[in-house]
Amino acid sequence: MKKKNWIKLGYILASIFVFCAFLYLVQIPSFLGFLSSVENKTFDLRQSVVSKYRKISDKIVIIAVDDASYEYIVDKYGSWPVPRAFWAKLITNLEPSGPNELIFDLLFLKRFTADGNSDGELINAVNKNKNVYVSINFDNYSKEVRTPPKLPVVLQNRIENDYLIKTNPDLVYSNCRSIIDEILNGTKNIGLINVHRDKDGTIRTMLPFLYYDGAYYKHSTLLSALDYLNLNKNDFKMNNRGEIILDKNRVLPLNSDGRLILNWYGPEWTFKYVPLWEVQSAIEKNDRKFLDDNFTNKIVFIGVVANSLSDIKSVPVSYMFPGVEVQATFLNNILDNNFIRKINPFFDISMAVLLAFIVVFGVMRLKSPAKSVVLFFGLYIGYFILSIVLMLFLNLWIGLIMPFSFGIFAFAASYIVKYLITSRDYEHTYKLAVTDGLTDMFNHRYFQEQMSANIQTAKRYNSVFSLILIDIDFFKKFNDTYGHQSGDAVLRQVAQTIKKNIRATDIPCRYGGEEMSVILTNTNKEDAIKTAVKICEAVRNREFELATGDWTHVTISLGVASMPKDGDTTEKLIEYADKCLYVAKGNGRNQVISEVSEDTPTE
Ligand code: GH3
Ligand code: MG
Ligand code: MG
Repeated sequence: MKKKNWIKLGYILASIFVFCAFLYLVQIPSFLGFLSSVENKTFDLRQSVVSKYRKISDKIVIIAVDDASYEYIVDKYGSWPVPRAFWAKLITNLEPSGPNELIFDLLFLKRFTADGNSDGELINAVNKNKNVYVSINFDNYSKEVRTPPKLPVVLQNRIENDYLIKTNPDLVYSNCRSIIDEILNGTKNIGLINVHRDKDGTIRTMLPFLYYDGAYYKHSTLLSALDYLNLNKNDFKMNNRGEIILDKNRVLPLNSDGRLILNWYGPEWTFKYVPLWEVQSAIEKNDRKFLDDNFTNKIVFIGVVANSLSDIKSVPVSYMFPGVEVQATFLNNILDNNFIRKINPFFDISMAVLLAFIVVFGVMRLKSPAKSVVLFFGLYIGYFILSIVLMLFLNLWIGLIMPFSFGIFAFAASYIVKYLITSRDYEHTYKLAVTDGLTDMFNHRYFQEQMSANIQTAKRYNSVFSLILIDIDFFKKFNDTYGHQSGDAVLRQVAQTIKKNIRATDIPCRYGGEEMSVILTNTNKEDAIKTAVKICEAVRNREFELATGDWTHVTISLGVASMPKDGDTTEKLIEYADKCLYVAKGNGRNQVISEVSEDTPTE
């Protein structure tokens, strides 16, 4: 195999190696966790852009238990939480206005200090009004802390073809924080209210179904939404894309972790809030107009929004005080049928490879680094903009971190390869410039350079070096006899023989025609003569192959000159060696001459 192909193979192997290293890194959980947390941040960034264009449904109203309402209640009733009769009165006073639904984002837990009469009023109000929704919360408390409650069969759901929820241990619970028994067994409008935060504390997803004690349970918001849409049922089916089918054109597209990715609503489109204290004050004043104006034909959430109640929640979009807003967002997503879907990971991998390919191609083709940097940033900024457009119009979450990290990696790798190739090309060009093609010895120009360099060194350090001139004997005749091709072949083989018999620090050159030379750095005349003799004998004693495949003998004549003994310029040294050569020819050739008198003539 040619050297060039070896180098190509080397590049391919190096690329495969680096690619495998990347795959290996991706398998390390902490590295993967890091990538996915950065991916989540890019989701937040995209959400904060697209959320401004999402319209909030005017069906939804939040009765906000905010800081002011908290003060109002403590002032009027002396404590928080208030006696349950307070909520019962709220329900019975809102019902005449005809709200579609009243959804409590509060847990009516069993209490030690249960106030029978007060609790009883709430139990009545909740159980009697079919549009009131309450919640329970699943957890994993030990059986010793709390006996896991049996939940009513009417609350249980079945999901056919489920392969996402039960397989995620985070969605399977062993205990439940239950509510007042009479409510638990008195209404079927009970759903779960668990929330899920990603590792960074941000809520991005919702839990439509959780698994507990052999059955699935719905989220209270999902339950109320299905009632509102007349789609309520307890038997669901999941298709092979992970979508829970609600009806012909409405699905819940579960992410691979069995959760729903929410589409958030931005700062300009906040939900309609009515502070609880204003509602309470209207009730006290029996201001029916206020209540009708705000709640007739509305889906009403009642819950905490204030951060003073240690309910500070963070979501991808800024300027919200998320508490009950998370439930409202969930409801709005169901009504608009616009949950976010993550694209198939295969798409992300393909795009990562495609973009990396363009980067590599660009870096290799573009001469200026500035242009390839522009290409790189242009490409990935373009892809980022595309990802926003896809999220805005198609509710699609395409991966950014995989393509981006792959791109950076490809950019760096292709620069390294480009550098290696360029330096190799440079080396190659340099080698071409200083070598002789036929003999693979250094050429005449290089010989001249090296002579000057060695003369300067010898002068500066008072050191020595030598020169051998070599000429093939009767070469004209040789050519005439065997032909030029055989002449060339022999020239090459003589060069090889010379190279074999000198040191690595010696410089073999083709001086011109069939004349060759060797510069012996740091070598005195005595040693140079030894080398010359060795070369002379080596040539004499070997056979040379002709172009025809026959073998023959050839001899050479050699002249030796040394610095400073025989001269201290290139011209003088060459002249001296040439004179030696002339004498060698005159003496019958096939020999080394190293001493001549001043007046020996040259050719
Ligand atoms: P001498 O022993 O006196 O050196 O006799 P010679 O015939 O070798 O004489 P000279 O050195 O003057 O001859 C040079 C000849 O070498 C001329 C040319 O035919 C041959 N020659 C020079 N360069 C090349 C080459 O690159 N290839 C071949 N085949 N022959 C070359
Ligand atoms: Mg000659
Ligand atoms: Mg000759």
